[in-house]
Amino acid sequence: MPVNVAIIGSGPAGFYAAAALIDSGEDVCIDVIERLPTPFGLIRGGVAADHQTTKNISKKFDKTALMDQVRFYGNVEVGREISLSDLREMYDAVVLAQGAPVDRTLNIPGADKPGVFGAAAFVGWYNAHPDFGNLNPNLDVQAAAVIGVGNVAIDVARLLSRSDKGLAVTDLPDYAETAMSRSPIKDVYLFGRRGPLDAKFTNVELREFGELSQCVPQVKTDQLPDGVGDLEGREKRLKERNLETLRQFSERQPDEKPNRVHFEFFASPSEILGTDKVEGIRLERTRVEGGRAIGTGEFFDVACGLVVSAIGYRGIPLEGAPFDERSGIIPNDDGRIEDGLYAAGWIKRGPSGVISTNRPDGVTAAGHIHNEYASGAIGGKPGREALEPFLRERNIRFVSYSDWKTIEAAEINNADAGRPRKKFVTIQEMLDVIDNT
Ligand SMILES: Cc1cc2nc3c(=O)[nH]c(=O)nc-3n(C[C@H](O)[C@H](O)[C@H](O)COP(=O)(O)OP(=O)(O)OC[C@H]3O[C@@H](n4cnc5c(N)ncnc54)[C@H](O)[C@@H]3O)c2cc1C
Repeated sequence: MPVNVAIIGSGPAGFYAAAALIDSGEDVCIDVIERLPTPFGLIRGGVAADHQTTKNISKKFDKTALMDQVRFYGNVEVGREISLSDLREMYDAVVLAQGAPVDRTLNIPGADKPGVFGAAAFVGWYNAHPDFGNLNPNLDVQAAAVIGVGNVAIDVARLLSRSDKGLAVTDLPDYAETAMSRSPIKDVYLFGRRGPLDAKFTNVELREFGELSQCVPQVKTDQLPDGVGDLEGREKRLKERNLETLRQFSERQPDEKPNRVHFEFFASPSEILGTDKVEGIRLERTRVEGGRAIGTGEFFDVACGLVVSAIGYRGIPLEGAPFDERSGIIPNDDGRIEDGLYAAGWIKRGPSGVISTNRPDGVTAAGHIHNEYASGAIGGKPGREALEPFLRERNIRFVSYSDWKTIEAAEINNADAGRPRKKFVTIQEMLDVIDNT
């Protein structure tokens, strides 16, 4: 009898775990349970629409999904259509790979004003995530502020600064492309509480700002340190590259191109300004001591009509699994929670790293499952043979991988020339395509 494994979530962590289980040589039967009808998590719903090469990594996961041992159950939310305890009764092992889908809260006065968005919502909107298709942010503004200096902040700032030409080859949904290409935004501000060496962005993403056709990057020379200090090895090389790129940006002229992206370091947001909507942001100048940003008491205001807060993501609790409110993850011992229950990816580690950073989590979870099965601690449960009757008896409309392929084919077919796909936004549209094909 195979080891029956349920993986909750079809993002990178889920698929890396499935691949590692297959590679382990164990006789496995893997069911990937996903709340959306579409697979691939943040590859589809997070990675920027103008970074299609990155999104192509899903082709690798496609191969895993099509293997005999694996079955996809989309449109099934664990905690709603089926509980974790139901799944644990059915499966020898359950891997929690549901990611960290919500924004860390921006806790400053005025953060609830219309025109302030978290990055999870804003990025989900421009990526046609069904949860955020109705967000409707007003981009009819002259300036936007992005809080944070990681890669997510960089993505948001870049998309807000791109020209029509840059957007025309993306898979942005029509509503987002129209809003972005018509937007009169001239200035985008990126605010980091600490200095350039503390910023988390990677060099490839940073350098892209130097190559945009309509937008020039602006950096204040006096915010750049002379060198990277006593860093060593890889970290030293990364920071040196970023510093060199920022130095080049500091020499660019503000009137070279119609739009500007301003990097503002040592600036901590203290208040969102405006009466009934965002009209600006107040920031406190900081200095960095012992790695921490300390307010100097000097404040300054920047006018803007849109604020996107990209200060990190966090997980949400799932009934039946432990949860650490402070860190927003599931507490675990190197991916193991208890016999039969494991975690991988952002819900295990928190929201950091790139897609491939989730790969070792899958390998570790597969290792735990292998060891516990070998020791007799887990095994003997029916898996899929119990899941399918459960779903059918309750009329739960699940989407198979071949249904997803139908959705995908329609998206590709509906795309204008030069675009990779035209995404459906609502779950109903996706189900209708399956029904009508
Ligand atoms: C805006 C943004 C841009 C990024 N850009 C890049 C990039 O360009 N390059 C790069 O290498 N990395 C990028 N990353 C990082 C990368 O996307 C993550 O490392 C990776 O997606 C995390 O994988 P995960 O599987 O843990 O979570 P996710 O990708 O979030 O996948 C979790 C999956 O679980 C599903 N799910 C959630 N709850 C349930 C439930 N209750 N029941 C069933 N299913 C559920 C979700 O719908 C989702 O499909 C980016 C991240 C963000 C946020």
